[in-house]
Amino acid sequence: MKNTRLCPKCQSSDIIRIRGKQEAYGAGNYVRVGFIANAGVHRYVCLTCGFTEEWIDREDLDRIRKKYKDEKK
Ligand SMILES: [Zn+2]
Repeated sequence: MKNTRLCPKCQSSDIIRIRGKQEAYGAGNYVRVGFIANAGVHRYVCLTCGFTEEWIDREDLDRIRKKYKDEKK
């Protein structure tokens, strides 16, 4: 959905992206992943069937990897 811009459920291309960081405080779309604050979670919403997906920014993934690398045993 993020890459294809197509809804995987109904194949609609009527999809919007909601930026997590910009709407952090207003829309309640600001998600903490475990202990990781400030991870920007962006939501893709299909305006045809209502399916949603959530993605975390690439730069946040690098931060998450560093933070939890030592815990993967
Ligand atoms: Zn859909």
